[in-house]
Amino acid sequence: MANILVYALHYEGAINKNSLGAVSEGARLASELGGECHAIVVGGDDLTDDLASSIGAYGATKVYRANAPEGLAQPVVDAMAKVIGDDGHGYALFGGGLLGFEVGAGLAARLGAGVAMEVTAVRAEDGKLVAERPILGDSAISEINFRSDVGIVIGRLNAFEPKESGGGAATVQDVEVELSSHAQQATMVQRGEQRGADVDIEGADVLVAGGRGLGKAEGFELVEELAKAFGGNSAVAATRAVVDAGWYPYAAQIGQTGKTVAPKLYLAAGISGAIQHKVGMQSSENIVAINKDANAPIFEFSDLGIVGDLNKIVPKLTEAVKAKKGG
Ligand SMILES: Cc1cc2nc3c(=O)[nH]c(=O)nc-3n(C[C@H](O)[C@H](O)[C@H](O)COP(=O)(O)OP(=O)(O)OC[C@H]3O[C@@H](n4cnc5c(N)ncnc54)[C@H](O)[C@@H]3O)c2cc1C
Repeated sequence: MANILVYALHYEGAINKNSLGAVSEGARLASELGGECHAIVVGGDDLTDDLASSIGAYGATKVYRANAPEGLAQPVVDAMAKVIGDDGHGYALFGGGLLGFEVGAGLAARLGAGVAMEVTAVRAEDGKLVAERPILGDSAISEINFRSDVGIVIGRLNAFEPKESGGGAATVQDVEVELSSHAQQATMVQRGEQRGADVDIEGADVLVAGGRGLGKAEGFELVEELAKAFGGNSAVAATRAVVDAGWYPYAAQIGQTGKTVAPKLYLAAGISGAIQHKVGMQSSENIVAINKDANAPIFEFSDLGIVGDLNKIVPKLTEAVKAKKGG
């Protein structure tokens, strides 16, 4: 029997969607293991009883509430390590997102635990969890078994669907955490929502990708409008140059150090087509590129190339797509 502990990130009075997905998944898996799913929330006065106990609706039977800074990895590592040390959870589970990766990795180092990252499915087998992780550009699945006392599973963004379990409010247990000195070195200056941070570019059928040719962060409105016009399963993606510049979230980055995608349609606006970008999108079914430089490398592997100023072409394309779709 093993209990599962899920980190539930919260912001402005709401629990993060990926965290609720992880709680739902944790509840399903815990019942197969004959254990319980517990959640942990970290924060200050903003963590009301109602907010903490509401996680019960997604299948957590108990919610630990730790008084420590939220949104920073190391205090959460301290809090989770204490709870796992005291109550002996067999697994820690995280929804997708950069903070989950950071906390999960820190917790693995702290506990000497095995960690599976970018997980897309988990099952219980012979009383233990087995995590599945796509590898080799998502062309194969690797299965990860844990030998450590605690196993850490970090989901890929949007891998776990939030599902209300029909359960009532969870019991809330306050936890005293003594923060390690290094966990007090960083302070939260500001929290905010990042546009497109929960984007699922790997699952999209149509990707409208923007590069440095968009000129500035606001330039992304052009590609967002176009993706919206395509509707359905469309999303906005980006090059590393623009995510490094802070114009768009890392979750949207395609390439060698980003994500590998293979949508039905990949449309590049203001992207040069560097090799490190190409390796992440070359398997797309149809590649369309808009670039003002006729010699841009991206045209060498595009099915359709449009030479011109994206500021003129993208809005026209958006109108044309809207007209074709009847709206
Ligand atoms: C180790 C390493 C790993 C990397 N990993 C990645 C990765 O994972 N993903 C990634 O994307 N990159 C990665 N890079 C960076 C990569 O080498 C390129 O620097 C990056 O992809 C360039 O991004 P870009 O195309 O947006 O910008 P640029 O190369 O600057 O291209 C901008 C393009 O926009 C065009 N343009 C400008 N204005 C307009 C306009 N008005 N209308 C139309 N076109 C216009 C220009 O002609 C140009 O071709 C990596 C680099 C290294 C060294």
